[in-house]
This record gives sequence, structure tokens and C-alpha cells, in this order.
Amino acid sequence: MDHVEIRESVQKLCAGFPGAYWRQLDQARAYPTEFVTALTEAGYLAALIPEEYGGAGLPLSAAAAILETVQAEGCNGAACHAQMYIMGTILRHGTPAQKETYLPRIATGELRLQAFGVTEPTSGTDTTSLRTFAKREGNHYVVNGQKVWTSRAEHSDLMLLLARTTPREETRKRTEGLSTFIVDMRAALGNGLTIRPIRTMMNHNSTEVFFDNMVVPAENLLGEEGRGFRYILDGMNAERLLIAAECVGDAKWFIAKATAYARERKVFGRPIGQNQGVQFPIAKAYAQMRAAELMVHAGCRKFEAGEACGEEANMAKMLAAEASWAAGEACIQTHGGFGFAEEYDIERKYRETRLYQVAPISTNLVLSYIAEHVLGLPRSY
Ligand SMILES: Cc1cc2nc3c(=O)[nH]c(=O)nc-3n(C[C@H](O)[C@H](O)[C@H](O)COP(=O)(O)OP(=O)(O)OC[C@H]3O[C@@H](n4cnc5c(N)ncnc54)[C@H](O)[C@@H]3O)c2cc1C
Repeated sequence: MDHVEIRESVQKLCAGFPGAYWRQLDQARAYPTEFVTALTEAGYLAALIPEEYGGAGLPLSAAAAILETVQAEGCNGAACHAQMYIMGTILRHGTPAQKETYLPRIATGELRLQAFGVTEPTSGTDTTSLRTFAKREGNHYVVNGQKVWTSRAEHSDLMLLLARTTPREETRKRTEGLSTFIVDMRAALGNGLTIRPIRTMMNHNSTEVFFDNMVVPAENLLGEEGRGFRYILDGMNAERLLIAAECVGDAKWFIAKATAYARERKVFGRPIGQNQGVQFPIAKAYAQMRAAELMVHAGCRKFEAGEACGEEANMAKMLAAEASWAAGEACIQTHGGFGFAEEYDIERKYRETRLYQVAPISTNLVLSYIAEHVLGLPRSY
């Protein structure tokens, strides 16, 4: 789980992208192209792609170490983390031809698979009520509908799309009749696909996308028609563990900043860190971060052993998002007024890390998962 060499080399790469770089992007709401290119060229975004397809073939814990380090160094992996894990759906459910077509080019970065079109404005968390419909017509599907919060769509060549292929009322179960597609957005843009950026409180490059008779070749269907929801679920544990690792990294960044400042800042003739009122929130956030880190490791171990890890992945995601928020709170409070100054980067990281209590799954839904699937309580929704 340590992956010390990987961490050290990611640290070196991140040193080339200091706070000033991220601040300027944040103000312009611009995409960190240079940073993403550097991560791609170093092979980090292809960490999970097997070697036979040109990737590094590393275990999930190595990918977690990469993303954790990116965040702990003050950078932001949200611009490209999905390139690491969305391809898992092609790897697990694609045909040999689809794997050959896409994976080697995703590994080199020639193709960016960064966009994941699941959430819709009306369905929200209730994924199986999504309305985007893909109708089979001969050798292609015609897609109509809308997605929201499709992050990085403007900076991706491909999108993994979840759409209905059988109306819900014609299926036995609500989870049936959904299918996954690889959409080539370069071909579709202006031909039935429209992308509109959403300005958010942090620089996240999220968008809403509209499908108006967008044509997708039938060969771009991933796996069997109607089983797409299952395929998306299969990828969620890896995503949750990796996002949790990012939150652990954020928490480490906040804790390091807060401790350094608490040691050096003198008020009333002594370091503010001598006051328990300043020490305790930092110490508590540290304990929360360590617990979350252990849960990330436990989840990765099970994932790598091919065991069910839904419990650990969900708990890691929730605990880590709460730890990073607690650490952010402690950090901003420790810095007093300076915590609000842009040049300290704290307010930026504080805005960035807040997301993970909502996306990719909200804390309430993690709690519902634990209640229902781990504790055997009745389903609440
Ligand atoms: C910046 C950003 C980037 C994102 N990127 C992507 C992306 O790339 N691709 C993608 O598909 N989606 C993406 N999302 C969407 C994200 O996954 C959803 O926002 C999230 O799953 C919550 O869905 P919702 O916003 O529709 O909230 P809703 O489902 O409307 O829920 C609102 C609130 O109600 C609570 N709630 C709802 N139902 C229940 C229940 N049964 N019990 C208890 N509480 C409940 C939720 O916890 C939440 O707090 C992104 C979101 C954001 C903000």
C-alpha cells in the first residue's frame, strides 16, 4: 500500500505545478492542460490499464497512492482522475475488438476517456429513473435526452454514457433496460451533441450535455444491451476508493499547512499551536484522516484480491470526505484571517474538497448502503 517510489516521483512532478499555477486556473476557470499532459506522459493516468494494452498494469492501491499524492501536494486530480477508472468498464465488459481499439490509445493519452454521463437533472441520485433514451435503428442507436454534471466533457474525446434502451415500464426490474455506450464526442459534437459548461464554486470543468437525435454506432454498445446499470455498479467501488484516496491527500495537505502555521504564528507572545483550542481540531482531523486511510487500504486489498469491497469502498469514501472537510475546517480556522486570502491556497482547497460529500455519491446514500447492505435494515427509498 505504501508505493514509496511512486509517491516520490509524483511529488517531484507536482513540484512543477505550485499554488500559483492552480490559483491562476481557478480564477480563469481554466483546465490544467499542462498538468494533465505531464501526468499522462509520465504514465500515471494509465496506471490501471494492463500492460498488454500499453498501460502500467498496477494495482488499485498504486493508483490510490498517485491520486493521494497529487492532492497532498496541493494539486487537483479532479481534472483527470476519471481517465484512470472509467476505462475499467471497457476492460471488464468490452469485446476484444473494443479493448484493442480503445485501451492502447487511452493508455498513451491519444484518446481521453474522461467523461461519465450518468446523472440527469430529474433523476438525480435515483439513477434507474434516468430518461435519456437510446433507440436501436438498424446499425446504430439514436440518443435523445440530457445529462447534468458531466465533468470534463469539453476536455474528453469519449464519454461513457448510461441510457435507457427499454422503457422502464416494459422491464421486470427498474435496474434492467439500461445500457452503456462509448460515445465519440468528437464526431457527435454539433451533430446531436451540445455541451454547456456549468460554473461552480470551484474549478471543476463540469457541464450539462444535450442529446438531440445523436447517432451512436451499434458497435459502440458496451457489453449486453439492458445490463448497463450492473456494469456501472461494477466500476463504482474503484471510483469510490480512488476518490477517498484523494480526500486523504487533501486532509494531509490541510493538516501539514495547519501544523506548520500553528508552530510559527505567534500571538500573545507564544505560538498559537500551544493552545489546545488550536491543537485539538488539527489532532482530531489527523485521527479521522488516519482512520479513513486505513479503510482505503482495506478496500484496496479486497479489491485487489477480487473480493467484494462495497462496504469498505463506501465507508472509505464517506470517512475520507469527512476527514478532508474536518482538516479543511481546522486549517482555515488555524490561519485566522489569512485562511481567506487566495495566496495561501487554503480557501481554494477548501472549496475543492467540499464536493466529495456530495459526489460521486452523497454521504446519505453511503449511510443508506451501510444500513441496508451491511446491517440488513429495510431499504429506505
Ligand atoms: C461538481 C460535480 C461534478 C460531478 N461530476 C459528475 C460526472 O462526471 N458524472 C455524473 O454522472 N455525475 C456527476 N456529478 C453528479 C453527482 O454524482 C450528483 O450530484 C450526486 O450523485 C447527487 O445527486 P443530485 O445532485 O441529483 O442530488 P439529489 O439526488 O437531488 O439529492 C439531493 C440531496 O438529497 C439527498 N437524498 C436524495 N435521496 C435521498 C435518500 N433516499 N435518502 C437520504 N437522502 C437523500 C442527497 O444525499 C443529497 O444531499 C457531479 C456533481 C457535481 C456537483
